[in-house]
Amino acid sequence: MEEGVTVRGECPSCGGERNARAEKVFKHRQFADGDEDIFVDDTHAILRCLGCDTAYFRTDSWFSEDVDTRYNHITQETEQFCPVKHTYHPSPIRRDRPDWSERIRATDRDLQRLLNNTYDALDADLAVLAAIGTRTVFDRASELLGVEPARTFAEKLNELRATGKIGDVEREHLSALVDAGSAAAHRGWEPSAEELDTMVTILEGFLHRSFVLAPQAGALRGSVPPRPNRRPAVGNQG
Ligand SMILES: [Zn+2]
Repeated sequence: MEEGVTVRGECPSCGGERNARAEKVFKHRQFADGDEDIFVDDTHAILRCLGCDTAYFRTDSWFSEDVDTRYNHITQETEQFCPVKHTYHPSPIRRDRPDWSERIRATDRDLQRLLNNTYDALDADLAVLAAIGTRTVFDRASELLGVEPARTFAEKLNELRATGKIGDVEREHLSALVDAGSAAAHRGWEPSAEELDTMVTILEGFLHRSFVLAPQAGALRGSVPPRPNRRPAVGNQG
């Protein structure tokens, strides 16, 4: 990347990939001790969104020893390449905490701490850890809803469904969330910004309904005066 060029970048204001101008670029190569063949190349850039003018910061890093392979459809051969890691500030996956998230504390301190840690990981652009966090939050929430912690995730979802804590549609959504969180935890799968957004939306819906809306609905029922008994109609009409 050179100064003045147009690149594609994740604009934190537009919430997606947009054209941006590289206003300032600084390159830095760091060698391993005693070996000039092993190095990390960092390119730090201040980008300006060409849609909304927001300025943000990106670092492109690649490590000389990090070599991957891919199939080239033109040459029809497998070729080696060095994957470049993009890091943004502010993070494109950061997400506003819902105003009810503080109320989770009244339910359970651990649940609120795990949820906060997940939002912190999003703020810090740590996609894999954030994905694992969503699964851990679900795990703690299911325990608070009475599910035995030692069960498998599939068993937990089935039990929540059997006890009426979730419906069929929500079980499908939460199952997708748990599978994605497991792929991040065991295989290092890194979700895209959009996929993480879906995961957190599923989690927030589940937490809000289970721990915020349920008590509010109960309070609403308690404060509404009961419906008066309906008297039989007097048959003098017509
Ligand atoms: Zn923008």
